[in-house]
Amino acid sequence: MSKQKKRVTFYYHDDLETYIYYHDHPMKPFRIPMTNELIKGYNLTKKMKILRPSRSSVEQITRFHTDEYINFLSKATPNNIEDFHTQRLRFNVGEDTPIFEGVFDFCQISAGGSIGGAVLLNHNKTDIAINWAGGLHHAKRGECSGFCYVNDIVLGILELLKYHQRVLYIDIDIHHGDGVEEAFYTTDRVMTCSFHKYGNGFFPGTGQIDDLGHGKGKSYSVNFPMDEGMDDKSYVEYFKKTIDAIMAFFQPNAVVIQCGADSLTGDRLGCFNLTLKGHGECVSHVRSFNTPLLVLGGGGYTIRNVSRCWAYETSLLIDGYKLPNELPTNKYQYYYSPDYQLNIQSSYMKNLNSKKSLHDKYIEIYENLRNLTLVPSVGERTRPIDFNFEKQDFDENYQKESDLRFTEKDLDQNVEKINEFYELDQYFNNKQFVNHTKIQDFNSLFNPNTDQFFFNNDNLNLSDEINQIQKKKRKNDK
Ligand SMILES: [Zn+2]
Repeated sequence: MSKQKKRVTFYYHDDLETYIYYHDHPMKPFRIPMTNELIKGYNLTKKMKILRPSRSSVEQITRFHTDEYINFLSKATPNNIEDFHTQRLRFNVGEDTPIFEGVFDFCQISAGGSIGGAVLLNHNKTDIAINWAGGLHHAKRGECSGFCYVNDIVLGILELLKYHQRVLYIDIDIHHGDGVEEAFYTTDRVMTCSFHKYGNGFFPGTGQIDDLGHGKGKSYSVNFPMDEGMDDKSYVEYFKKTIDAIMAFFQPNAVVIQCGADSLTGDRLGCFNLTLKGHGECVSHVRSFNTPLLVLGGGGYTIRNVSRCWAYETSLLIDGYKLPNELPTNKYQYYYSPDYQLNIQSSYMKNLNSKKSLHDKYIEIYENLRNLTLVPSVGERTRPIDFNFEKQDFDENYQKESDLRFTEKDLDQNVEKINEFYELDQYFNNKQFVNHTKIQDFNSLFNPNTDQFFFNNDNLNLSDEINQIQKKKRKNDK
C-alpha cells in the first residue's frame, strides 16, 4: 500500500441530514451524516480540506440529462406529483425512485460535490476528492432508476474530460454501473469497469462479460459479472488483476471510483461477503497508481456498515492510515451496538464463484484489453469555462481545527502544469507495458463551439436501443 501523503479534499453538506425517500425505503441519505460523524470522531477532518459543495445548476445537470426530465424533477414535489401523471410514468418515478421532499435539492448537492471535485482535480488543486453523497450510477439521461435521479458520476466525468484525455471509471457497488456505462458506451475516452453480481434477475440485469461498448467505444466497457458470496480473497485478487491490466493498456489520466458499500457482507440488498478489509484494499490499490482520483459513494443499505466502510476508506485515502478498531464516541453511537467496533466479520455463506470461472472471465477481459488503441493526450485546444470553481465554499465549521489546511499559494503553484502527469508517463514508460499506438484524429464528446458536451445522433439512438433491450430483459427476468 502506498503511504505517500496526498492532498485530500472532502465534500460534505449539513443538509444531507434532512432528506428521506420514505420511511421504509432502503436508500437512506442519513448514512452520509453517519459517515461524517465517524470521520470527525476519528479526527480525520484535520487531515484533509473540507468543502461544502455548491448546488449544481440546472445548466450543469442538463449537460447530460434531458431538459424535459430535469424540468420535471426540479418542479415535482410530494404535494403536486399527482398533477404530473404522464411525466411520472415517462420518467420512471415509482416505489424505487419516489418524489420526496427536497429530491432535486438532494441531487444538486450530490452532483455539486462530484463536479466540484472534478474541477479541483482538473486544476491540480487536490490529489484526491471524496464525495460520499455521490456515486448514483443508475440514473439515465432521461429517467431515474434504482434509487438514482441525477447521475453525478457522468457529470463529474464530463468535467474531467475537459482536461483529461482518458478517464477510467471503476465501480465496486454490487450492482452493475449501467447509467455510467450507457452514457459513455460509444466513446474511447472513458473506460468503464464494473464488478457486480449478475444473473437470476438481479438488478439492473445488465453487465454481461460480452457487453463491451459500441463503435469507437468497443472494448472500452469492461464488465466482470460475479455470483453470490464473493469473499475478500477472490474479489481483491481479480479486482487487482483487472485494474492492473486496465492501467497498463488504457493508461487513464484521471480515475473515478464508485465505492458502493452494498457489496459488503450483510447488506440489506446485497449478496456478497466482503468485509471492510477487502473493499478497502480495492480503494487503496486504485490510490497507489497516483493518478488524480475522484472517490464517490453509491449503494449501501445496512447503514451502520456503510458509515464504517466509508470512514475507513477515507482514512486509507488520506495516508493509508489504518483506524483503531474501537469506534470513537459519536452522535449516532447507538447504531453500532452491541460491539461498537469498526471492523465487520464475513459470514459463512458459500462463495459460488469457482476459481476457474473467475480466472476464465479475467482472461476474456484481458484479451479484449490488450488490443486497445489509445487516443493521444489532450493537445492545445480551446477549453470550456469551468463551473463553480470560484464558488466552492470552505467549510469553516469542520475545518476550524485543521492543522493541514492548504494555503492558496500551495494550491496555485502548480496550475500551469495541468495535464502534465509526468510521473505517470514515466511510470508506464519504465514498466514498458505496451506499444502505445497513437491516433492523431479523434472525435471528442466536447463541442468547443457550443461549450457543451454532446451526444451525437448515433449515440442517442443507441441509448434508446439499449434502454429498450434493458427494459425487455427486465420484463423477461420478472
Ligand atoms: Zn448498488
